[in-house]
Amino acid sequence: MISDVIKSSKKIVIKIGSNTLSNDDGTINEGFLEELCQQIVMLIQEGKQILIVTSGARIAGISSTGKWSRKEDMNYKQALCAIGQVELMVAYGQHFKHYGIHIGQMLLTREDFFDDKRTLNIRNTLFTLVDEGIVPIINENDTVSVEEIKIGDNDTLAALSASLWNADLLILLSDIDGIYNKNPKEYADAALIEKVTDIDEMLKQIEIGQSNSFGTGGIATKIEAARIVNKYGIPMILANGKTSEILTKIASTETKATLFYPEKAN
Ligand code: ADP
Repeated sequence: MISDVIKSSKKIVIKIGSNTLSNDDGTINEGFLEELCQQIVMLIQEGKQILIVTSGARIAGISSTGKWSRKEDMNYKQALCAIGQVELMVAYGQHFKHYGIHIGQMLLTREDFFDDKRTLNIRNTLFTLVDEGIVPIINENDTVSVEEIKIGDNDTLAALSASLWNADLLILLSDIDGIYNKNPKEYADAALIEKVTDIDEMLKQIEIGQSNSFGTGGIATKIEAARIVNKYGIPMILANGKTSEILTKIASTETKATLFYPEKAN
């Protein structure tokens, strides 16, 4: 099922979470990034169009400055994002350059998605970049996003971007194989849910636990992201970015994941 969805999708949004992008010590996992870019290039060579939504600016900032990791004040968090965003884009840029592919950075805020003129501009930029073979990379514009106007987590940002771009599929890469009936980090006997067609029904059957220190939204925002895209008939896959060659493996059913498949598309 997941492999069919990937095969039939041309426009794919891939979101990479902070936990996926970072090593346990909080530094950027370069090996992961290299392999991810390689898999994305393979998808592009198969004729697919890819849009990336990436987290990790703050950890990249901590990683490069080596300080402020414990600062909770908003201005320090935003400063770390300002520093780390550059580092992050340089890292992506270098990996894609290896294949002769350019990247384009788009920093967005909540307001951008609810203003007709801005959404039109975003859409035009996205279509132009993708048509020209450039990989757009979206992140929230943290330096201008104060708490009240923030999207706040990149799962929602990815879902809004997928809807705006009329994507065929949204893939969220996290550090777990998918949605479980309870937190797999706390319970060894947690069971993976492979397909969700009714989100409200599923919510009655699962327990939502804590996420770790680098994550922002946790599992709840991933479920809400599925709700946003499924409303527009766009399926969503939640898969484990920590598994090597995950995109290839879910496409060949070698590795399990969770597919949120909108009922009406059944
Ligand atoms: P990311 O940084 O990839 O966005 P988060 O850390 O924010 O990821 O959220 C994923 C985490 O949510 C997992 O590592 C897991 O420990 C936790 N979690 C809590 N409850 C569940 C559940 N029912 N199923 C799967 N994961 C869960």
